[in-house]
Amino acid sequence: MSIFTNRMEREAKTVKAMIGIYCRNHHSLKVEDCDECLELQNYALDRLHHCPFHEGKTSCKNCPIHCYKPGIKEDIRQVMRYSGPRMLLRHPILTVFHFIDDRRKEPLSDYLNEKNDTDDLSIECKGPIEQGET
Ligand code: SF4
Repeated sequence: MSIFTNRMEREAKTVKAMIGIYCRNHHSLKVEDCDECLELQNYALDRLHHCPFHEGKTSCKNCPIHCYKPGIKEDIRQVMRYSGPRMLLRHPILTVFHFIDDRRKEPLSDYLNEKNDTDDLSIECKGPIEQGET
């Protein structure tokens, strides 16, 4: 698998890179040595792992489900806001793909058509679901 062909792998590398930038500049640590950022990273990767849309996913900010717990959702937003503008220099390829991937505003219909309704998607997430929050 490669970041060029596998969106889930690409998103995992992107979220790790963004949390890494944030942790280095705020805590002067590597994520592996920072309990707070490691917990956030593990949570984000777990959500990604259970994402019911798989390769057909939108960016999480455009997702119709929003599977992050509210407090953690704000934490990851803070990381994205800080690290987003700093990604281009450090990770130009991931950044370009992030912009391309971000253009998808709804999950791909192929993936949605395989599902029955939002409740089924929520179950597949195997995590806390907070509907209606943005
Ligand atoms: S369900 Fe939505 S918020 Fe959760 S990982 Fe998938 S795209 Fe992101």
